[in-house]
Amino acid sequence: KVALSSIAKSFGPTKVLGGIDLDIADGEFLTLVGPSGCGKSTLIRIIAGLEHHDAGSVAIGGNRVDHLRPHERRVAMVFQSYALYPHMSVGANIALPLTMSRLKLWQRLPLLRQLSAQRRTVMRGIEADVAAVAAQLQLDHLLQRKPAQLSGGQRQRVALGRAMVRNPDVFLMDEPLSNLDAKLRVHMRTELAELHKRLGATFIYVTHDQVEAMTMSDRVAMMDSGSVLQLGTPSQLYEKPASLKVAQFIGSPA
Ligand code: ATP
Ligand code: MG
Repeated sequence: KVALSSIAKSFGPTKVLGGIDLDIADGEFLTLVGPSGCGKSTLIRIIAGLEHHDAGSVAIGGNRVDHLRPHERRVAMVFQSYALYPHMSVGANIALPLTMSRLKLWQRLPLLRQLSAQRRTVMRGIEADVAAVAAQLQLDHLLQRKPAQLSGGQRQRVALGRAMVRNPDVFLMDEPLSNLDAKLRVHMRTELAELHKRLGATFIYVTHDQVEAMTMSDRVAMMDSGSVLQLGTPSQLYEKPASLKVAQFIGSPA
């Protein structure tokens, strides 16, 4: 499980997170919602290790990870912008976390690449792992293309593939569908929900979209000004909103 305890964060004089406590169970789909600027991205960047908190602790699977760098945590992040490398093929983009962790620096140098038998063995393993992920995401036929030659939904799947290839325990997703058109977004919702079920991994998901939050999540955490206003299942939030703000976001009649 992911255990956040009293996470506090300020940027200069501005307090952005005011002591967040949140336990997320293994395999849970937890969605963070709340107004722009309330601290959702900051919170998941802290879990990813991309941002450092001022106080409190982050534990994953019972171990504190505060001192670990992003690639040392068993988490993978999917960004709204996908963050793909335009000069690299789809296959190389998906493989990137593995080439970074499995190849020694000198094995990545162009001039030395062909010389090393050991490198060829590592690369075969990486290619097999990439192929397995690509098959799951129906990207097999696109591995040679560049990101610019893909549709939005395909780019989104490449970004997912790059997260999946590390086989993380926890997926952190910051508005991953918000750049897609409405039709594709609905389609990708279903794909993400199926992926979550199939992988059995923990998903921590940020969205502005009520429908996404209410249909995909096991639980929803409604945030405002750096704290959690209410945490519960979608039906709990809908039926018993803790405040007018929650009711307005969820669209419940209260
Ligand atoms: P949105 O829904 O618009 O993405 P959010 O809930 O993800 O908003 P955050 O990105 O976490 O919000 O930002 C929370 C607050 O922290 C905002 O007021 C933002 O301006 C501020 N902030 C975020 N990153 C930085 C930074 N690197 N330096 C200074 N202030 C920052
Ligand atoms: Mg954000």
